[in-house]
Amino acid sequence: MDMVLAAVREMVPWMQQRSIALDRNAEFPAAEIGRLRRAGALSPALPVSGSGDPDDLAALLILAGQGNLSVGRILEAHVNALHAIARYGRPADDDGRLCALWVTDPPSGGLSMRRQGNRIFLDGGKQFCSGAGYTDGALVTARDENGDTRMLVLRLGMGETATPLPSPLQGMRAAVTGAVDFSGCETSAAALLGDPGDYLREPDFSAGAWRGSAVALGGLIALLEHGVAQLRQTGRFDNPHTQARCGLAIIARETCRLWVHAVARIAEDAAAPVGARVAMAGLGRIAVETACLDAIRLLQRSLGLPAFRQGSPVELICRDLSTYLRQPAPDEVLVEAAKWVADHPEART
Ligand SMILES: Cc1cc2nc3c(=O)[nH]c(=O)nc-3n(C[C@H](O)[C@H](O)[C@H](O)COP(=O)(O)OP(=O)(O)OC[C@H]3O[C@@H](n4cnc5c(N)ncnc54)[C@H](O)[C@@H]3O)c2cc1C
Repeated sequence: MDMVLAAVREMVPWMQQRSIALDRNAEFPAAEIGRLRRAGALSPALPVSGSGDPDDLAALLILAGQGNLSVGRILEAHVNALHAIARYGRPADDDGRLCALWVTDPPSGGLSMRRQGNRIFLDGGKQFCSGAGYTDGALVTARDENGDTRMLVLRLGMGETATPLPSPLQGMRAAVTGAVDFSGCETSAAALLGDPGDYLREPDFSAGAWRGSAVALGGLIALLEHGVAQLRQTGRFDNPHTQARCGLAIIARETCRLWVHAVARIAEDAAAPVGARVAMAGLGRIAVETACLDAIRLLQRSLGLPAFRQGSPVELICRDLSTYLRQPAPDEVLVEAAKWVADHPEART
């Protein structure tokens, strides 16, 4: 993993430099994914397989987010898919191929499946699909005839259609988040992963949120780098109010760093109590969300209107990060975590 991390660290300035144009054109970062693949970053050692170190995996995701949050998001989804595949035991034959994770159903017409012998027939689709139209495969969830949620690992190019969202997201444009319709597609029963209900099984369902937090931290690291550089260039850094705001933003960044590594270790620790793994991932997610939003406000206040000029790294990262931080059910995550910790004062958290 050391060589992978060194190669990805070297890519960071290149990714940052390309990020503005990719955002402007809402262009999928194919060159970045190609370099990540060649560096071995699409086949990282995973803690769930017993071969990976959580701190190393965190470092990889942080670096990707530091380079470009959209690239980080695509890598995060890929790692989440690999984690589920390793966890639920399907032999991995997709080494190095980019896999999406599409689990969000539209309000109506969500993905369903019907099994006939060895064949599976699909109907409906998914929304908020990152990398729509650009990944080699996808792990999807589909409702079966019994109303159970099943996981399927699909090779794409099976007749599915990817379309842009009716109204595009403001940020994370290079993640090319669209809708994918699988109506009329069919696959073999070998695509099934795990048993009914496995997708929602804890701790894996919730604890994996730490990987998104790691990518967000990467974005925050880049935001501070670019924000301070811009303040220096414009002669605004020597102001004590600005320095105080930067100090608070640095505290926010280091708070995220402590949370991400602590949560990575416990969330990936198979020996830790399920409740602790879920609660810590939830608390870490909210802590990182709060710290990133605080830092965005502090940097925007210090820079003023230039922070909102399109074409500047700060503007892009603020827009990408604010969008990326919108993850499901934050209120529920916080109160459930609070209840668990309050009920288990003795637990290691
Ligand atoms: C950049 C990006 C890429 C994404 N890519 C993918 C992808 O590849 N695949 C995929 O499957 N998904 C993807 N998603 C979607 C993601 O999985 C979630 O669906 C999405 O982020 C949910 O965000 P939300 O703010 O709408 O959450 P919500 O859960 O709707 O939360 C919004 C607010 O509503 C509150 N709330 C939640 N539930 C209720 C309720 N029942 N009653 C009242 N209030 C409620 C919350 O606490 C919160 O305050 C992506 C999202 C982003 C931002």
